[in-house]
Amino acid sequence: MEDTKTKDNGCLYVVATPIGHLDDITYRAVEVLKSCDLILCEDTRHSKRLFQNYSIETPLRSLHAHNEHQISKGLIERIKAGENMALVSDAGTPLISDPGFTLIELAHRQAVKIVPIPGPSAVITLLSVAGLPVQPFTFHGFIPPKQKQRVAFYEGLLPLDQTHVFYESSHRIVKSLIDLEAVFNDDTRVCVGRELTKRFEHIYSGNPAQVKTQIESDAQHQKGEFVVAVSGQTIAQKNVLDKSSQQLALSLKPLLPPKQAAAVVAEHCQVNKKQVYEFIISQGD
Ligand code: SAM
Repeated sequence: MEDTKTKDNGCLYVVATPIGHLDDITYRAVEVLKSCDLILCEDTRHSKRLFQNYSIETPLRSLHAHNEHQISKGLIERIKAGENMALVSDAGTPLISDPGFTLIELAHRQAVKIVPIPGPSAVITLLSVAGLPVQPFTFHGFIPPKQKQRVAFYEGLLPLDQTHVFYESSHRIVKSLIDLEAVFNDDTRVCVGRELTKRFEHIYSGNPAQVKTQIESDAQHQKGEFVVAVSGQTIAQKNVLDKSSQQLALSLKPLLPPKQAAAVVAEHCQVNKKQVYEFIISQGD
């Protein structure tokens, strides 16, 4: 292995591990994990299962959201004193919706050498197969769990011409797709990755209603881990409303909530309610 250790200091490796399939770990990751002095993991029992598979016997210490503030300073001191450490998370790439930010930020401040050992992440894995434009994309991590905030979050995405990727839990995937369908128009493309790289891997793709139906129709499809990608609305999709509908929508906007205003305009002008709704939302406050 390349010796990244500087003269007296140790170094901090940030090591990606599989998001499901145990074989999805690099040779370099295994080598680094075997050779360092300490591995920092979210849940030591969870990581032990992976490490046993690769005969990694390095001591483990738990670093998670609730203790990283307390322990990061001490860990950095030990690295500066010469120890090599590796940071892993339960799955995928550390810091991608996972702990480690405090430690890495402190390492930068203290000029500690940081070495990334890249590998899987659910967000990139889905984007590689989603069939949606990838440049630009925004990764949102976990989206708001409550409906009101989730709808507001989706509405905030409407004016943006880019692909959005986010993580969603199995408890909320259907509710989340129902809200997505209510906010985004039928030309939007959605791709959902479920249990990527695992036995029950499934990739759903279509417009919001189609993807929602595929997942809603069978309880088995609602189990496991989910990552969702949504195409942004193109300028053509956004400008479909005629001028008089736009004017009526703008005049009602300060008087009624967006949904009600959209219903009135749709009824009065015989236009698509969702398009009016999107137009109102795209106008901001
Ligand atoms: N650090 C991880 C990464 O690089 O992707 C993400 C950790 S985050 C705490 C866990 C969430 O990522 C899951 O709830 C799910 O939304 C998503 N995820 C992780 N593995 C996945 C998989 N195999 N298939 C689909 N989504 C996955």
